[in-house]
Order: sequence, then C-alpha cells, then structure tokens
Amino acid sequence: MGRMLKRTMCVCVCLLCLLLLPVSSLSQELLEVYFLDVGQGDATLVLSGGHAMLVDGGGPESSQFIYSFLRDTMGLEYLDYIVATHPHSDHVGGLAAAVNACDAGMIFSPIWYAEDEGFQNLVRQMRKKNLFFTFPASGNTLPLGDATVTFLAPIYPMSKVNNLSVILRVSAGDTAVLLCADAEMEEEESLLSSGQELRADVLKAGHHGSGTSTGERFLEAAGPEYAVISCGALNPYGHPDAAVLQRLWEHNVSVLRTDLQGTIHGIYDGNAWSFTSKRQAPPDEKRQTEEKTVVRGMPEQSDVEYAYIGNASSRKFHLPGCTGVSTMLDKNKVFFESREDAVALGYVPCGICHP
Ligand SMILES: [Zn+2]
Ligand SMILES: [Zn+2]
Repeated sequence: MGRMLKRTMCVCVCLLCLLLLPVSSLSQELLEVYFLDVGQGDATLVLSGGHAMLVDGGGPESSQFIYSFLRDTMGLEYLDYIVATHPHSDHVGGLAAAVNACDAGMIFSPIWYAEDEGFQNLVRQMRKKNLFFTFPASGNTLPLGDATVTFLAPIYPMSKVNNLSVILRVSAGDTAVLLCADAEMEEEESLLSSGQELRADVLKAGHHGSGTSTGERFLEAAGPEYAVISCGALNPYGHPDAAVLQRLWEHNVSVLRTDLQGTIHGIYDGNAWSFTSKRQAPPDEKRQTEEKTVVRGMPEQSDVEYAYIGNASSRKFHLPGCTGVSTMLDKNKVFFESREDAVALGYVPCGICHP
C-alpha cells in the first residue's frame, strides 16, 4: 500500500514537472505543411507528431511525383488520412498513386461516384487494398498527432461540385491552417452562416486564387497572416485573379504561390510560422517591387540603400526582395538601415524571407 502511494506521488511530481516546463520546450514543430507544386492543381501534406494527412494529390500527370515525394522524399509508408476534397481531376488525379505508395487509415470523399478517370483509378486502387470512403461530415473532428483536424464543409445543398469541396481547419497550439480546396463564395457564405470557428494564420486560398473565391467577408472571418495559392505557372485560367491578390494585400496578408516558388514548406514551432521554398519570386516580380518602392515609397532616396522594409500595419519586417514587400501597400512601408533598428522598434522578422 505504502509503495503504491509512493509510486502515485512520484507520478504526480512528474506530471507537475511537465506542467512547470516552459510551453516552448514541449511544442517544437507542432505542425508542418507542404503545399506541393503540382502545376495547375492542389496537393497538401500535413504532418504533426509523426502522423500524416494528404489532402488531394494533383492531376494524373502528378502521379509519379506524388508517389516518389511520399515514399522517397518523405519516407512515408502510412497516411493516417487521405482527403479527396471533390472529384475534379486536378485534385484527385494523383491520389491513386498516393494509395499505391502508402497504406491509409481513412479516406474521405464527399462524393463516392464520379465519371472522372482519376477518381475511378483512385477507387480501383482503394479496392485492391480493401479501403472504403468515409463521408466527411461537417463538424466532425479527428486527431492528427498534436493537431486536430476539423471538417467544416461541405454543407448541403450546393449548386456545383466545387462548392461541395471538403474544407478543413487544422489547429495546433495557438495556430490553425484553413484548407479551402475549390470552394467558391457560395460555400464560403454557407460556412460563415454555420457559425463555425474559421480563424486561421495560414489560408490556402480557395480555387487556385480564382476571383470566384476568397471573398471579403470570408477573408475577414479567417483573418490569416499568410495565404498560399496553388496554381500552375502561366495557367490559361488567369489564376490567381488580380482582385484576389488585391483583397489579400489590403488585409496585409503575405502571399505565397506555388507557380512562382514551387513547393512551399511551412513549419509552426509553437510560436511562429516559418516558410521555405525552392524558388524565390522571379526577377521580374522583384524588379516591379523595386520600381514600386522607388517611385512611390521614398521619393528622395532609393529603398535599395535600405536593407530592410517593415510593414507598419502587420509590424513585420522583410528583405527588399521578399514577396511580402511586393504585396505591401506603399502607405505601410517603413524603411530600416539595420536589422537592429527594426527589432528595436518592435518589428518581428518575416517567416518567408527570414531577415
Ligand atoms: Zn474543382
Ligand atoms: Zn481545382
């Protein structure tokens, strides 16, 4: 009996120690997201605490890439969840390759039959492994390591397939990521009236940055710091739409784009988000940035003399070539000669250019 009591006390003391530890030491890399460059399509890998979820797999032409990314690059053999957000080719075309590459816990789809060849390949591959679809019911939650996945949508009825897209909110610690698939404003509005929690630091903008999506009210409710747009370089649809970029800039959202930067890797360490990508914005984009800043920012001197540019609204500072500068309103630009000056005035380094 005495020994039992001692052991219980010991456990209590250990729990107390855990509680007293600084939060940051328990929350290294709480959440990781890869926004994969699959050209004109969508594929997002979410990782937390050794668990993995794949949301869409790009078009059929991405099959080889998806297979080798999961198996060779990431060394994954098991995906806890696979989500087919809606049966359009640019989202489900590469998912058969994912099921071929990895075993899967659960596979979600809002629609269980579709003509699309990629979707039918997915179903065939699932049958081989004796896997079945689960319906992504709005309001349901699932654990993913240290994170929680919430199915926000689809909410019926909707007039088109894009608006049956599964919308996911992945939360961990103090942060959340909102994955909007091809949702257009009709679905965004249904989410707004559902009263569900939409706040997220990272928003994957709906429908490849199309003007049909990322409406003003939805953007205000989500209040993201970063927006990721997944689209193909020089795509024939004009994605992302200039009006969407304008809305994002006006809300001081830093924009990341797979068409310009390739695959984007975001890490949340429990305190802040940090993003890396293979490519920076191309030279043209940078030149435009410099011209804008020189002409309208500081009439007397070129910003090239300034090593850092801050955003008076978001209180973040950047290197001059960062996409965060190209999307910044001129009235918010603050110029610093040194990093120390920026930090001394309370500005925090951008998670994209790491100044
Ligand atoms: Zn679609
Ligand atoms: Zn799409």
